[in-house]
Amino acid sequence: MQTTFSPEQLADPHVAESEKILRACVHCGFCTATCPTYVTLGNELDSPRGRIYLIKDMLEAGRPADRETVKHIDRCLSCLSCMTTCPSGVNYMHLVDHARTHIEKTYRRPLPDRLVRALLAFVLPRPARFRAALKLARLGKPFAGLFDRLPGLQPLAAMLRLAPAVVPAASPASKSSAHAASGQKRGRVALLTGCAQAVLDPGINERTIALLNRVGVEVVVPPGEGCCGALVHHMGKEEAALAAARKNVDAWARQIEGGGLDAIVITASGCGTTIKDYGFMLRLDPAYAEKAKRVSALAKDVTEYLATLTLPEPKQRPGLAVAYHSACSMQHGQKITRQPKELLQAAGFVVKEPREGHLCCGSAGTYNILQPEISARLRDRKVKNLTATGAALVATGNIGCITQIASAASMPVVHTVALLDWAYGGEKPEGI
Ligand code: SF4
Ligand code: SF4
Repeated sequence: MQTTFSPEQLADPHVAESEKILRACVHCGFCTATCPTYVTLGNELDSPRGRIYLIKDMLEAGRPADRETVKHIDRCLSCLSCMTTCPSGVNYMHLVDHARTHIEKTYRRPLPDRLVRALLAFVLPRPARFRAALKLARLGKPFAGLFDRLPGLQPLAAMLRLAPAVVPAASPASKSSAHAASGQKRGRVALLTGCAQAVLDPGINERTIALLNRVGVEVVVPPGEGCCGALVHHMGKEEAALAAARKNVDAWARQIEGGGLDAIVITASGCGTTIKDYGFMLRLDPAYAEKAKRVSALAKDVTEYLATLTLPEPKQRPGLAVAYHSACSMQHGQKITRQPKELLQAAGFVVKEPREGHLCCGSAGTYNILQPEISARLRDRKVKNLTATGAALVATGNIGCITQIASAASMPVVHTVALLDWAYGGEKPEGI
């Protein structure tokens, strides 16, 4: 694609990076067929190619974002399915991240939208605030229908509907701690316990620690680590995202220089995609560029790390049929497709793959709150495909997908690590 940025514009490293990405696009349109919003809405402007043109126009003109551009960029799930499909290696992720930052800096959203976004950015990254908000949301659930009818407040209705009926108690596993390996030690890892996941299902961290310890891996939850920054990053709040990244880089760098780390293990693939991008996000910060690159190189999804170990024979082989839902951040963001399925098979599960496995379930961070209608259509399509596999349950590696799919599925939806922990000597997951 030809571009016409001026030398002055290209002096900005963010613009220069976007220009490089834009030039790689040959407008072939292959990406449109696998884009969930194009498949759902059928509008070229809701396809990757359409959005690339909108972003090009906005950045080249150096103008503030307009309502139409914002509408179509906001509808993008950042699922990155387009990156898997693109034959030209267009880095849509970095392009849309830049566009979102530009929108945040130059566009004044309507008041209800600003309030909802500010609320999400204030609450979600902090487990204590999120837990308190979920408890309040339980009381507010009966008002969801009312918010649905008030213009601009549908996201509040979506939030109330997604809030679980029971908020689990906080787990000590999510606090800074060290967990020794059983038997002969063969590795030492840091675990990101995360923000939303630690509140919605603290058992995921507990099971990850127990399983890793059982197979000989010491696990530390380092002091100072926190939210990975993905939630605010996807809202274009660049400074907040970079602050979260720097905090984590510092926390993990201390561990790398102290006891050493074989990996930084992540159990929510949405966080994994962002942490693997810290090297890029902090490339212009001389104090952090090198450290961030090291951290990104060590970041591993829990299944990616487990696949590097020789696991013992499972304690039991449950033999259940499991529909494996590959989160977009897992398959498109991190290109991890093989390991979760192979681990489940080796642990004695029969893995079923749903049709349209490349399409997003509509969760996508805060998307199911900010774009509830498109999100619900994608969720229903996903649940239909998962149900058609005839499996007894669904496994996936991202808390956002678990919450989203479970809100409409009739079968249990569990984290992949819960099933692996069960097969390798842990408790049977609840609801199975
Ligand atoms: S597939 Fe790649 S090169 Fe083709 S239009 Fe989409 S982004 Fe551009
Ligand atoms: S990230 Fe997903 S929703 Fe956005 S343009 Fe690409 S395929 Fe479409």
